[in-house]
Amino acid sequence: MIIDIDKLPKDGLKVSRNFDFPSIDLIEEDAVFLQPVHGELTIKRIGEEVMVKGRITTYLSLVCSRCLAPFEFAVDSRFDLVFLPEDIHEMKDELEDEDLDKIFYKSHHLDLREVILEQLNLTFPSKPLCSERCEGICAVCGQVRHGGNCGCLVKEPEGRLGKLKYFMKDKS
Ligand SMILES: [Zn+2]
Ligand SMILES: [Zn+2]
Repeated sequence: MIIDIDKLPKDGLKVSRNFDFPSIDLIEEDAVFLQPVHGELTIKRIGEEVMVKGRITTYLSLVCSRCLAPFEFAVDSRFDLVFLPEDIHEMKDELEDEDLDKIFYKSHHLDLREVILEQLNLTFPSKPLCSERCEGICAVCGQVRHGGNCGCLVKEPEGRLGKLKYFMKDKS
């Protein structure tokens, strides 16, 4: 969905629709779309700046980094972005430092799909977990541990307290 900057209505363009992407466009290798991305967006031009504000929601399937099982991941992301025309980019010297991390649009057009995909890719956790309490895979039998029910005895390394006891014994 390409937005023509010059044709934006004065009080902004409201977009409410679904966007379909192939899962291969996602930055996370094992991520799969479970439904299209729904976007509620407002695109508004103020002078040369184009504001894109809105919310995207969808469901993805991710793979847990501990137990390697797929799990459902809900995306609900809000953003508020400012785009500047690309020709400003060429006059970099005149830009303020804070403008340098702004995003630019090319030849009066803005690809809304690209914007949404980028925002979506920013929502991924660095280590996806099916649950905060996921115990991962048993180092002995390779089964997924759920409360240690695989039956293997995994020896805990001796804690600090144990070492301290020995240390105190030596002293006396
Ligand atoms: Zn897990
Ligand atoms: Zn085990």
